[in-house]
Amino acid sequence: MIYDLHTHTTASDGALSPAELVRLAGDNSVDYLAITDHDTLKAYEHVDTEINVKPILIVGIELSTVWAGHGIHIVGLNVDRENSVLIGGIEKQMKARVLRAKTIAHRLKRTGIDDPLPAVLKIAGSSMIGRPHFAQHLVDIGLVKNVSAAFRKYLGSGKTGDVKQCWESMPEIVSWIRAAGGTPVLAHPAKYGMTWTKLRELIKEFSGAGGLAIEVVCGAQELRTTKKLADLSNEFELAASCGSDFHQVQSWSAPGRFAALPDSVTKVWDTW
Ligand code: AMP
Ligand code: MN
Ligand code: MN
Ligand code: MN
Repeated sequence: MIYDLHTHTTASDGALSPAELVRLAGDNSVDYLAITDHDTLKAYEHVDTEINVKPILIVGIELSTVWAGHGIHIVGLNVDRENSVLIGGIEKQMKARVLRAKTIAHRLKRTGIDDPLPAVLKIAGSSMIGRPHFAQHLVDIGLVKNVSAAFRKYLGSGKTGDVKQCWESMPEIVSWIRAAGGTPVLAHPAKYGMTWTKLRELIKEFSGAGGLAIEVVCGAQELRTTKKLADLSNEFELAASCGSDFHQVQSWSAPGRFAALPDSVTKVWDTW
């Protein structure tokens, strides 16, 4: 069975529409797919979660938060889309994203760039606005040669356009997911650039706040990272999740394309 429990669509910063993603995941033999767009469930307005053909959809979301100065992502799996607590939370995150976009634009302007906001709003369209839309604009105006340079120079951790003090706290985010009957999963723990000591602190607080799982496999990653995360999952008695964090078709990234979870961990789907 292939479970891909972390993917993106045009509802946030992915390149494929929800229907296109579902089709590609099916072509890649994914059995269970969670679409986990940033701070939105809009993708689920365009796909049928009741249909009983592969891939079977698991309703998900990737919520942004901040912890000890680090931008952290919490994936919520198997959430009830109708839950009013979660809906209210998403509303807050959406407002925070719009305010944050204004702040990012303001900060970029101060570096001498023409006001990027109108163009960025256009790029984002009806998608949940985020830094990737700013990155695209910086490429479009020729300031940087590609998206990764845009993050390296302007938008990545610690740079001018990295604004993360706008999100709700981790316990708050976890509580929304739990209220909606979902499983809070700490996304891509190895990608926050933390020491293992700091990461253990984060996992401990996440668990204390009601977190139930961590992503032990996220896209292509080194085997020793997987082993370390599997150990942490077992040590803190948190279930293990896995996903591609797919955003767009690229040689090294596709739905369902990542290593299997180690046998030692409790699979998150076995807790459902
Ligand atoms: P935001 O949700 O607005 O904070 O933007 C974060 C998103 O930007 C992540 O989910 C990635 O999709 C993308 N991203 C972050 N860092 C990079 C990078 N160095 N290169 C390309 N995309 C990135
Ligand atoms: Mn993203
Ligand atoms: Mn993420
Ligand atoms: Mn993601």
